[in-house]
Amino acid sequence: MKSAWLNYDKDEKKNVFDFNAHYIDMITCAKTERLFVKESVLKAREKGYVDLKEILQRKETIKPGDKIYVTHMNKSMILINIGTNDIEDGLNILGAHIDSPRLDVKPNPLYEDGNLALMDLHYYGGIKKYQWVTVPLALVGVVCLKDGRTLDISIGTKPGDPVFVVSDLLIHLSQERMKETAENVIPGENMNVTFGNIPLQDEEKDAVKKNCLHILKETYGFEEEDFFSSELEFVPADPARSLGIDSSMVIGYGQDDRVCAYTSLMAQLDCEEVKKTSVTLLVDKEEVGSQGATGMHSQFFENTIRELLYAMGRKEERSLKRTLQNSCMLSSDVAAAHDPNYPEASSPNNQAYLGNGVAMLKYVGSRGKSGSNDANAEYMAKLRHVMEEGNVQVQCVELGKVDLGGGGTISYILANYGMQVVDFGVPVLNMHSPFEVSSKADVYEAYKGYKAFLTNMD
Ligand code: MN
Ligand code: MN
Repeated sequence: MKSAWLNYDKDEKKNVFDFNAHYIDMITCAKTERLFVKESVLKAREKGYVDLKEILQRKETIKPGDKIYVTHMNKSMILINIGTNDIEDGLNILGAHIDSPRLDVKPNPLYEDGNLALMDLHYYGGIKKYQWVTVPLALVGVVCLKDGRTLDISIGTKPGDPVFVVSDLLIHLSQERMKETAENVIPGENMNVTFGNIPLQDEEKDAVKKNCLHILKETYGFEEEDFFSSELEFVPADPARSLGIDSSMVIGYGQDDRVCAYTSLMAQLDCEEVKKTSVTLLVDKEEVGSQGATGMHSQFFENTIRELLYAMGRKEERSLKRTLQNSCMLSSDVAAAHDPNYPEASSPNNQAYLGNGVAMLKYVGSRGKSGSNDANAEYMAKLRHVMEEGNVQVQCVELGKVDLGGGGTISYILANYGMQVVDFGVPVLNMHSPFEVSSKADVYEAYKGYKAFLTNMD
């Protein structure tokens, strides 16, 4: 298969770089699911999307061409563009997750040891813990106060801000630690972030911690016990940027899965008129199993479609079931790119390669396809046709060597409705590390692929 880069003339190459410049901006400023939802709402409203709550309040009827969004607990979101076809013909759905692995703050985080104030952390999602030490971290999230106010916290994301770090023992004294396996070399309980060093004057005990609390109160407006009602996350502080002498790639945090979330979102927003109603799901909690009110297992999606049908005068349960079962979905999630440094993990003829286009995975799962949604051959054929018509370069691949591990996405959850689902997304290198890598050509082909799907899948 030839590189997707070879398909572009000068103008299209410029489109690839321009699109990726916006993508880089987005993942630099939206490093949490909350921030991604906030940015997506702004972009959607600019494109004429209206909150479903406003529509229901005004008791307006919903008609083709209407553009609607819904958010849930500020951490997941659904965008809907009503098509001209009968809605019971089904929806064309893109679904991506907007949570990424990170280091969460524990409920009682702050303590002092050895002249340092530290914060006790609990990692979120599957990580190689040794990748997350000695990396500059930013503190982002919310603190909710008893009086009902919510404080938005962001420290370390702007130039000039201080950052934070989880320390690692110097090599000079690591003779014993170096004998540990990679799994154990950084114990989870040692992942405490260095937070401060100046003691408060005239304090005997925990003077550095007290000074940190003083700063949190004076500058950020909250107290120690407010950590109980906070969602604070340490994420890599650095901005995303171009990678390679030819600036062909993107390196940055959270590309699993904000690369597919961003390309899906832009495809949804850029498709003005559609035949089949198009839907983009941006969901939380995929990295911990999709449970919880904001994860894909939540009834939020089904409830929203039910509300929508109700507002369209389709009040029968059967209408909901038909709409969902007749739907098609691309599970927009990242694939594992071939890593030339570790070729032993790749299945050579069935591996995604950076630059070969968007990856389509008939199935994921582990070992004997355990836990996978195995897409229908008939559906695969239709998609091949749609992608060919849309001039999209697709690589049909697997996740890696069969016995080495595996992974899952949200695809099987939507497939429970009886709809057609396949995994379709951008290959990524360094997945789940603080600095993931994608090819700008693949990012662009994913965007084109999602657009072709929303426009031409019938
Ligand atoms: Mn993912
Ligand atoms: Mn993941």
